[in-house]
Amino acid sequence: MRAATAFNRILRIPGATIPFGVAFTPKGIVVGLRRRRGKLRCPCGWQTRARYDRSVRRWRHLDLGGSRLWLQADVRRLECRRCRRVRTEEVPWARPGARHTRDFQDVVAWLAQRTDKTTITTLLRVSWEAVARIVATVVADQLDDARLDDLYRIGVDEVSYRKGHRYLTVVADHDRDGAVVWAAQGHDHTVLERFYDEVGDQRLARL
Ligand SMILES: [Zn+2]
Repeated sequence: MRAATAFNRILRIPGATIPFGVAFTPKGIVVGLRRRRGKLRCPCGWQTRARYDRSVRRWRHLDLGGSRLWLQADVRRLECRRCRRVRTEEVPWARPGARHTRDFQDVVAWLAQRTDKTTITTLLRVSWEAVARIVATVVADQLDDARLDDLYRIGVDEVSYRKGHRYLTVVADHDRDGAVVWAAQGHDHTVLERFYDEVGDQRLARL
């Protein structure tokens, strides 16, 4: 079996194939992706065939057998008529603007609900700053306002990073396996008040 075929079967990257290959570099394994043909899609949902420009990007993906793994692909920009500016197209394997793949971010967010920071940073070999950023991104992306509708039992965690100088407040829903429903920088009462504001009085009465 060709190496590219093997990587296609192992990684199963949505919307892309690995036609040429795979490079083993001192930083880790770099897998070159080719997008399946199609329109350029703005993160807002607007689509076009017209390309503004293109460049090569890399995303950190989950490690493969102890090696760091990077996905690399040509990414195009488009002039979005709805956003009225030039934006980078959306790719299926990563959230807009992210430096890590969706899978990597989801694993980080999942672990952040269940374990301590040393475990995450050691296991995934990422900085705690990256973990904090990823958790905030995943929470913002996955959860629309409906996530606050059925809250009954919640837990609030304060996670510190930068040697205890920065804090992240994380609210988890205990009736849904500890799913993170909200997160924000900071850890004083004003942060939680912002959460309660978003939840609203009606929903708050059920907590
Ligand atoms: Zn747009």
